[in-house]
Amino acid sequence: MIRVGINGYGTIGRRVARAVSLQDDMIVTGIVKTKPDYVSMVASKDFKIFVPDKTYEKAFIDAGIKVAGTLENLMDDSEVIVDATPEGQGEKNKDLYVKRKIKAIFEGGEEPEIAEASFNAYSNYDDARSKDYVRVVSCNTTALARTLHPLRERFGIKFVDATIVRRATDPNDSKKGPINAVEPSLSIPSHHAPDLKTVMKGLNVSTIAIKAPTTLMHVHAVRAELEKAISKNDVIEAWKGYRRIMEVGKNSGITSTGQMMDLAREFGRDRSDLYEIAVWTQSVSVDGNHVSYIQAVHQESDVVPENVDAIRSMFEIADRDKSISMTDGRLKIEKRVF
Ligand code: NAD
Repeated sequence: MIRVGINGYGTIGRRVARAVSLQDDMIVTGIVKTKPDYVSMVASKDFKIFVPDKTYEKAFIDAGIKVAGTLENLMDDSEVIVDATPEGQGEKNKDLYVKRKIKAIFEGGEEPEIAEASFNAYSNYDDARSKDYVRVVSCNTTALARTLHPLRERFGIKFVDATIVRRATDPNDSKKGPINAVEPSLSIPSHHAPDLKTVMKGLNVSTIAIKAPTTLMHVHAVRAELEKAISKNDVIEAWKGYRRIMEVGKNSGITSTGQMMDLAREFGRDRSDLYEIAVWTQSVSVDGNHVSYIQAVHQESDVVPENVDAIRSMFEIADRDKSISMTDGRLKIEKRVF
């Protein structure tokens, strides 16, 4: 049993904690919270609560929430820390992990240089093998790597051009926007292209990113030039063996992210999460060696299985396919076609 501490229990941290606690080969030693808010109140029933340092403790005690110790104490009892603190905080925390000689996983908001390897389970599982510091790439990069990896493996890719329509913020965040505007990122390529190359080495890719006033999901319009001419069926076939890609067809009646997340609610999963990248099969169009398709990305949860797999790769306890199968089994990710 690998002992996993979770530092930062927000959108990503709380999902990773739950996913780790469902696995047979790892356990959650505790979570670090900064405030005794409603999330702490609920979490205290399932996990030991730790605080970054002693100065945070009193507020929890005043709120009647038991504190098990500080981050230092959590590190004493853990073999790896998943750092899901807000972007930039992970970089500040790294010194603590290095000093304690404890392995750590960082999230996509951190710069790639924070880690020895960036990680996506399908495209570069082995790069995290035996590493001490690994970064799971962002939700958008994870989604692009998921659907492009099978195409690269089977047909080869000459060039990718992807337009990313990004959700403005997460559903629980009422402070960020835009709420009534569309906000393009004016640098092209957006930061997603270089990020994708950290897990798909040598890929020739450009990305454009545009923020839209929604909190549900991101949507990607992807166009790839392949090494050879293919048919639409070849593309669908290439995705068949990959459970983390969900195919959504015409008969499903799903034409928006609203319906896509409604479908996820029908699955009855924890927090109604959609770990899979949902590709609208109707959108897949092929012209010689060019393929275009549109996919939807649940930003709050698609990186969660990757965090679990990254732990197995770092501890060398399972090869890629075995780890993915174990993770998918426990998270009830199966090949779904609608
Ligand atoms: P979040 O703001 O939802 O959660 C971060 C949590 O960490 C909050 O509960 C916050 O109170 C807590 N925190 C703040 N400072 C802390 C500290 N010093 N020690 C411990 N906890 C602290 O953020 P998030 O969306 O979960 O993002 C975490 C990381 O995951 C970032 O790198 C982000 O870029 C990445 N990520 C986010 C998403 C997404 O869509 N939300 C998707 C993929 C990756």
